[in-house]
Amino acid sequence: MNIEERVPLARYTTLGTGGPARWFARPQTIAELEEALAFAEHEGAEATVVGLGSNLLAADEGVDGLVLKVGGELAAVAISDDLVAAGGGATNAVVLHRARDAALGGFEFACAIPGTVGGGVWMNAGAYGGDFAQVLERALVVTVSGPDWLTPSELGLTYRHSELRDGQVVAQVELRLTPRPVEEIKTTITQLQSQRKAAQPTNKRTFGSVFENPKHELTAGRMLEACGLKGHRIGGAQISPMHANFIENAGSARSADAVALMTEARRRAFAEFGVELRHEVRFLGLPELPAVT
Ligand SMILES: Cc1cc2nc3c(=O)[nH]c(=O)nc-3n(C[C@H](O)[C@H](O)[C@H](O)COP(=O)(O)OP(=O)(O)OC[C@H]3O[C@@H](n4cnc5c(N)ncnc54)[C@H](O)[C@@H]3O)c2cc1C
Repeated sequence: MNIEERVPLARYTTLGTGGPARWFARPQTIAELEEALAFAEHEGAEATVVGLGSNLLAADEGVDGLVLKVGGELAAVAISDDLVAAGGGATNAVVLHRARDAALGGFEFACAIPGTVGGGVWMNAGAYGGDFAQVLERALVVTVSGPDWLTPSELGLTYRHSELRDGQVVAQVELRLTPRPVEEIKTTITQLQSQRKAAQPTNKRTFGSVFENPKHELTAGRMLEACGLKGHRIGGAQISPMHANFIENAGSARSADAVALMTEARRRAFAEFGVELRHEVRFLGLPELPAVT
């Protein structure tokens, strides 16, 4: 198992920011994954997985640990009857494509989520009323102690949340889908993708929704729009002029620019609405945002 050093994470995040990982490994099999996790334990380092980096903000100064990018056998897809077995590193797009060709429906919700199935399980990603918890039969989670199959309830899947932590790697998932005519699946995908295009900046470098929707009549996006933040720019990052709950890389953004925008957004939402917004994006090597009180 080759362990690389100081690999820039900006290549592995959809925002295109992030400094180097101290160590970086690309396990292709469960044996290699176990070897990499053993290396991290030996070094006393944290092991974190990067999927497609579509929900990640990594520190500009870098990440002092082992970052894993699973591939090979750990990104393969196989279908048997209505069960789709996919490696944790398989992208939603590939899994959806294969399911559609096999006339299996139920995963269409993922057409607008640019991640891997491992990342999807990690946060129970979802859209348009569907989420991973609804289709996941079980996931093979590998730790330094070995592999273990876990069900959605054992994974603690709730709204955009699981109980998974660093050091627990989703190596494989099994999705139970439902037979559906290919043409119907294609029509649903086309409809969902055009809804998405009309509402969100799909052609920009972002990390998806910045903040969770608060318990309030306004969504996080509407709240930040009401604060006048659409188009607000700090350094190379800007709040999307199209949807205020997205931060775009408007040209040579740094993660620090995105953090500064998030800090300002939280300050303004608290001042205007008394609401403390919580970020949905996962921080890697970054401290928590300052309190807004
Ligand atoms: C344009 C855009 C639209 C989006 N729309 C949606 C949406 O509609 N709904 C939604 O839920 N999300 C959405 N997102 C956010 C993001 O795509 C999802 O959260 C996605 O599931 C993240 O998957 P990923 O593979 O990119 O994970 P990453 O961003 O790489 O990682 C996210 C977390 O998952 C962990 N992780 C990744 N792979 C594994 C693995 N194999 N094992 C263990 N842990 C792992 C990482 O360590 C990290 O903690 C959107 C993002 C973008 C950029």
